[in-house]
Amino acid sequence: MDYGHPLQFGTFITPAADPPQAAVARAQLSEQLGFDLVTFQDHPYQPAFLDTWTLLSWVAAQTSSIHLAGNVLNVPLRPAPVLARAAASLDLLAEGRLALGLGAGAFWDAMVAMGFPRRTPAESVDQLSEAIDVIREIWRADDRAQLRYSGDYYRLRGAKRGPAPAHEVPIWLGAYKPRMLRLVGAKADGWLPSLSYLKPGDLRTGNAIIDEAATAAGRDPREIRRLLNVSGDPSKPVGRWVDEIVPLVVEDGVGTVILGSDDPLELQRFAEEVIPAVREQVAAARSAAGTATGPMRSAAKLAKRREGIDYDALPASLEAIEPGDFAYAKVRSTYMRGGAPGLVIQPRDADEVATALAFARDQKVPLAVRSGGHGISGRSTNDGGLVIDLSRMRKITVLSEADRLVRIEAGARWKEVAAALAPHGWALSSGDYGGVGVGGLATAGGIGWLAREHGLTIDRLRAADLVLADGSKVHVSAAEHRDLFWAVRGAGANFGIVTAFEFQVDEVGEVGFGQFVYDASDAAGLLERWGAAMEAAPRDLTTNLIMGPPRRGQALAQVYGVVDSSTPDTIIDRLTPIARIAPLLDQQVQVVPYAGVMNVPDAPHDGQGDPVARSGLIDHLTPEFAAAAAHLIASGTVYFFQVRSVGGAVAEVAEDATAYSHRSANFSVVAFGASRSRLDAAWGVLATHFRGLYLSFETDQHPKRLEEAWPPATLARLRALKERYDPANVFRDNFNIDPMGD
Ligand SMILES: Cc1cc2nc3c(=O)[nH]c(=O)nc-3n(C[C@H](O)[C@H](O)[C@H](O)COP(=O)(O)OP(=O)(O)OC[C@H]3O[C@@H](n4cnc5c(N)ncnc54)[C@H](O)[C@@H]3O)c2cc1C
Repeated sequence: MDYGHPLQFGTFITPAADPPQAAVARAQLSEQLGFDLVTFQDHPYQPAFLDTWTLLSWVAAQTSSIHLAGNVLNVPLRPAPVLARAAASLDLLAEGRLALGLGAGAFWDAMVAMGFPRRTPAESVDQLSEAIDVIREIWRADDRAQLRYSGDYYRLRGAKRGPAPAHEVPIWLGAYKPRMLRLVGAKADGWLPSLSYLKPGDLRTGNAIIDEAATAAGRDPREIRRLLNVSGDPSKPVGRWVDEIVPLVVEDGVGTVILGSDDPLELQRFAEEVIPAVREQVAAARSAAGTATGPMRSAAKLAKRREGIDYDALPASLEAIEPGDFAYAKVRSTYMRGGAPGLVIQPRDADEVATALAFARDQKVPLAVRSGGHGISGRSTNDGGLVIDLSRMRKITVLSEADRLVRIEAGARWKEVAAALAPHGWALSSGDYGGVGVGGLATAGGIGWLAREHGLTIDRLRAADLVLADGSKVHVSAAEHRDLFWAVRGAGANFGIVTAFEFQVDEVGEVGFGQFVYDASDAAGLLERWGAAMEAAPRDLTTNLIMGPPRRGQALAQVYGVVDSSTPDTIIDRLTPIARIAPLLDQQVQVVPYAGVMNVPDAPHDGQGDPVARSGLIDHLTPEFAAAAAHLIASGTVYFFQVRSVGGAVAEVAEDATAYSHRSANFSVVAFGASRSRLDAAWGVLATHFRGLYLSFETDQHPKRLEEAWPPATLARLRALKERYDPANVFRDNFNIDPMGD
């Protein structure tokens, strides 16, 4: 039986210790010759051999594309939890090139001589079975629960999981006897015997046992790759090799042939003459037999598919991740919210975005659009729906050096933008956190570190490329599709998927970055004084104030801010009034490149549950507002309360120039709470002070919030445009402007 696995070829190199570089050189040669895989036997009791794991690590570092595996690793001598972590580490370092060939142990006398317990054949299979469980559990780094495992050979009492490997590391077992073969069928991803240990007919019998065990375990036998070590023979003519290997593939289902040879000439002849001929004949045989090839999903993964998505209709050109896929753990949730989407599509360009959207329109599930995945509303993930995730689209291109015109794809992050602009002496006011994505922020507003000096992010937008609800691709600017260009600057999420933005960026070099910590016993006074200081400050200063519940009885406030100047006297001049708003507990002022302020480490997207945040825009931090805010903070209802300074250049842009509104507000307020009902109730008290809100800091999806984000005329204009450009309300999952609404 031919299982239709894409053909692969590997080498089986002796890990001889003398000379130590010989095995490494053979591995490098294997890579140069185009083999898919290099493998080494593992006999940790054999002094003539290098330790296989150490060799694998060294080879990984000395090669770049070939995959690596032990052939096979001695599990009784390699504690499973440690082996799991070692394998994940090597896979990460080798960027997804590791396969785990495992064996139940052999040469027991040598193992016993090293102090390891002797096992019966049955025991060693049981141990291997447990080892597979333990290894896979350790790799499940997204599971926050401690790992408890109570087996006969492994007992884990609250072990930590992780790291996860870079890819779904396949586990192949070296197996010959029925018990081991059944284990292959039940749990492994591949069967890896050596032809020299098999009698005629053993492959067929072994496959039958594996297939039966796989079926009994609810698996499709095709999930299990069949690999085979074949001994080298420099005297064997090419034709004989081909005649021997082709039936192994098309009759016995072998998908990976691994040549055991240390002879460079033989490796070369095999790669250049045998492999192409085998490939050709197998392709012809498969085509004649109509054998299905290509990727197949396991039964376990198929069972995780969600209702309402026609998975089989997904165009093959699109890269997508489903529940059960290894990559799913990294894309299911966002920074703020836990999610369980049914499909995450990752387009690579605008055409693929249009293809993905066409597919999405036909599905009966929610649709989320994601760029950086930092959306505070958390609507860039969902439960059971689709996500169009632009994280593969993050190119940054200078269009005009003279005009400082830069094209930025929506999936880039602001720290990447800052790093790309820095060598030109440029920056773009974007936000206070470099991990945030371009797409979400630049379609909503963008209150950044340079806001008072250079305006909102959208104020520097000169054009954008969008895929609209009907799949058409448009370029919007002051000259083309002016109405959409207006809408995209503040309400973009409702009108399409922006694939790229064109910004005119600013000349910004090093900046002063100040960080202050205060005693906030007088929280209301502090708020008021900071507000007054900011309103009086020159525009080159933008700061944010953060407060929260008292820590160990001490009420604290922090102010962070940027002075758009590298001159120490100017920086001190701007920050001195800020330093005086309350008793200082700590302070730090640095002159740093703007890109340095934005350069934060990557944060995991492992949000849990739903975020709860409310937003408000306010003109002045009046004594009444300050008192109400201080009361809210002291109540413990919010765990994070932040006020950002806006105004300045933001307020200079005409109110109706962009969909973003309430430009005269000098401050943007956001509060995060653990309980939605408690925060909503408390927010009602503060709300009387606000003139509107900024949707990027809001989580409440009630239509009332739209009326707060946009004045009546703006909302009416948006609704009319929505009716025109998205009448079927395709983009409805984040602060929806319902075309049918009033
Ligand atoms: C730690 C942190 C700091 C922040 N700091 C600031 C700040 O200083 N200033 C500020 O203004 N905001 C800030 N924000 C809020 C931020 O602007 C928004 O959350 C923004 O939506 C995040 O963009 P994203 O691409 O990462 O989000 P995603 O989660 O990818 O998307 C959020 C939403 O935006 C829409 N969207 C995303 N991509 C596109 C696209 N390509 N086309 C159309 N619509 C799209 C979708 O409706 C999506 O649900 C911060 C958020 C966090 C979590």
